[in-house]
Amino acid sequence: MYKKLFIPGPTHVRESILEAQTAPMVGHRSTEYADLQAEVTPKLQKLLYTEQPVFLYTSSGTGVLEGSIRQTVLKRALVPVCGAFSERWFNIAEANGIPADRIDVAWGEGFTPEMLDEALSQGEYDVLTITYNETSTGVMNPLADIAAMVRDKYPDVVILVDAVSAMAGAKIEFDAWDLDVVVSSSQKCFALPPGLTITPVSERALKRAEQVPNRGYYYDFLNMLKYYKRSNTPATPAISLIQALNQQMDDILEEGLENRWARHMEMAEVVRAWARQHWALFPNDAFLSNTVTTIENTRGVSIADLNKELGKRGAMISNGYGSKLKEKTFRIAHMGDLTVDDVKWVLSLIDDILGLAP
Ligand SMILES: *Cc1c(COP(=O)(O)O)cnc(C)c1O
Repeated sequence: MYKKLFIPGPTHVRESILEAQTAPMVGHRSTEYADLQAEVTPKLQKLLYTEQPVFLYTSSGTGVLEGSIRQTVLKRALVPVCGAFSERWFNIAEANGIPADRIDVAWGEGFTPEMLDEALSQGEYDVLTITYNETSTGVMNPLADIAAMVRDKYPDVVILVDAVSAMAGAKIEFDAWDLDVVVSSSQKCFALPPGLTITPVSERALKRAEQVPNRGYYYDFLNMLKYYKRSNTPATPAISLIQALNQQMDDILEEGLENRWARHMEMAEVVRAWARQHWALFPNDAFLSNTVTTIENTRGVSIADLNKELGKRGAMISNGYGSKLKEKTFRIAHMGDLTVDDVKWVLSLIDDILGLAP
C-alpha cells in the first residue's frame, strides 16, 4: 500500500513531479541539456537569495559534505556536534585524515554564537562546519546569528553548512549571511526523489580550494566551476532529476518563498502543540526545528507498532534516530510539499490508533 511519508527523507513526492522525471532523455553535452541547467540555475539562486554559482551534484548530500571539507581545510576544522548528522562531519574529517576538533553539547541542545566564538578563539581554525537542522534531534541551530559572529570576528574562516533537511523548507540567505558552502539533498525539503545535491559555493570557498592540492576529483569545485560556466557538469548529471527539479522550482516560486517558509512554520506549530499536549518535545525549546519535530515517547508506546498501524492507514512516521534515540523518541517530518491538512491528518490517525483525546 502507498504510504504518505512524514519521515525526514525521502519525503512525499507529488504525482506531477514524478511525471516530470519521465520527459525524454537528452544528451548531457547537447544544447537541450545546457538550456535546462541554464533555466533551473537562476531559480535556485532566487531560492537561496544569491548571485553565486549553485552547483548540481549527482550524489546524495553526504558526498558533498565529504567533498567540501576535503577542499577547504588547510589548517583545522572546528566541528560542533549536537546529534548524529553533525557528528557525520567529524567522522568524514577523520576518514579523510583532515585535522578537526569536535565540540559537543547534549543531544537536544544547539549551539549559540557565543559558544562557537569561545571555541573558535581556542585554536587555529580555518573551517567551521554547521548543521543547520540536526535531523536526529530536531534541533535547528541559529545559522544567521552564528554566521554574523564568524564574519565579524573570524573573516577568513570558511563556513560549511549541512542544510540537507532545511534548504527549500527554511530561509537561507546565502549572500546576506555570507556563507561559503551549503549542502542539501533533493529528497528532503525539495520533495524530489533522492540523487541530487544542490550546493551554492562562495568566492571565498573557491579561493580556498585553489590552495588545497589534493581536493579530490568528483567534487572538485574548480572543475565544477569550469563546466558550470557553460551550464554543464564534469560528469553525467542525473538529467531526469534535474528535469523534475526545474518543474519543482516553478512550483516553489509560484507558491512564493515567504509562503513556503510560513507553511513550514505553521506545520511545525501544529505538531509542536500536539506533542506538548500528549507527549513532550525532545529538544530544548530554544532550538526547535521548522522542518522536523522530535518527540519524547513519554507514553512508552511501541513506535514500531504505531508505525505498522499507520502503514495500514497509508502513512509513515519515523522512529528515533539510531540506538540512542530509537523508541525513546519518534519524529514527524513536516517538510517539502506536505500541507497543514496532511499534518493534521497524520496526527488524527495517531490519536485514533492510541486512543488519545483530540
Ligand atoms: C538526511 C541528512 C543527511 C544525509 O543526506 P544523504 O542525502 O542521505 O546523504 C545529512 N545531514 C542531514 C542533516 C540530513 O538530514
